Amino acid sequence: MSRSVAGQLSPVRRASDLRRLRAERFDVLVIGGGVTGAGAALDAASRGLKVALVEARDLAAGTSSRSSKLIHGGLRYLEQLEFHLVHEALTERGLLATRLAPHLVRPVPIMVPLPAGRGLNRQAREVTGVRVRDLEAPPGSPDAEFEVQARTVIAATGVWSDDMSRMLNDVGLRPGVRVRASKGVHLVVPRSAITGETGLILRTASSVLFVIPWGGHWIIGTTDTDWRLDRSHPAASARDIDYLLQQVNTVLDRPLTTADIEGVYA
Ligand SMILES: Cc1cc2nc3c(=O)[nH]c(=O)nc-3n(C[C@H](O)[C@H](O)[C@H](O)COP(=O)(O)OP(=O)(O)OC[C@H]3O[C@@H](n4cnc5c(N)ncnc54)[C@H](O)[C@@H]3O)c2cc1C
Repeated sequence: MSRSVAGQLSPVRRASDLRRLRAERFDVLVIGGGVTGAGAALDAASRGLKVALVEARDLAAGTSSRSSKLIHGGLRYLEQLEFHLVHEALTERGLLATRLAPHLVRPVPIMVPLPAGRGLNRQAREVTGVRVRDLEAPPGSPDAEFEVQARTVIAATGVWSDDMSRMLNDVGLRPGVRVRASKGVHLVVPRSAITGETGLILRTASSVLFVIPWGGHWIIGTTDTDWRLDRSHPAASARDIDYLLQQVNTVLDRPLTTADIEGVYA
């Protein structure tokens, strides 16, 4: 944020940014540093708007650091016959692969083995800023809590959106969106555990399961089950792991066992 110490993420830069958050008024304030918030902030900044982003933990600390790493084209929407969404997703994917991020996005051949035989209700009053707390300020510090002013506030808080809704309810505003938190579990196995170069897509009883080549590993996932515990720390159960192994083994020559598993994330 600060031009004088631009580009360096350091305690000096942090102190300078906090000073600016307190003192200045922004065009756009984004709450949440996941892919949605970072994207919204980048988009607004690239249009010349003055942007601030506040994050409760760390950049991509939420769902964004735990995805299947796929830029898929709306496969699940296709199943639901949501052709408009599929068209939009494919258009975005094409842009990412060719213009926006060809250095990050590369095509992976994927096979589909076949068995033989869904914002805020903007009717709401305007939100013109938020109260933030600096979690690294010394205990009891009078400066730890302060207000940030902005013409527009974007809540990009992912599975924490219902917390945001409760805050809006507390000030008499009516949020228009509810989010159901669900858990997705991935297994990581070495490349040697599965012969081949091609990714796989399987339709399971409760989700779409991908087997994706990822450097020296394969990523196998995901489950999709309701999660009502700590949203910051979703955890994989033995049952989730057994389910994934069972599903992927239906199409593998050499079945995977728990001994093949290098890592699990949820
Ligand atoms: C198992 C699984 C696999 C997936 N795989 C893929 C995939 O392969 N490809 C794909 O495109 N998508 C995938 N997705 C979807 C994708 O990961 C999510 O849509 C995306 O990461 C959501 O990003 P977000 O920024 O909305 O939320 P998040 O990444 O969760 O970010 C929200 C942020 O808001 C912060 N926050 C919350 N409350 C506050 C507050 N009060 N103040 C300040 N900060 C706050 C949180 O700390 C968090 O950092 C997958 C999702 C799951 C669950």
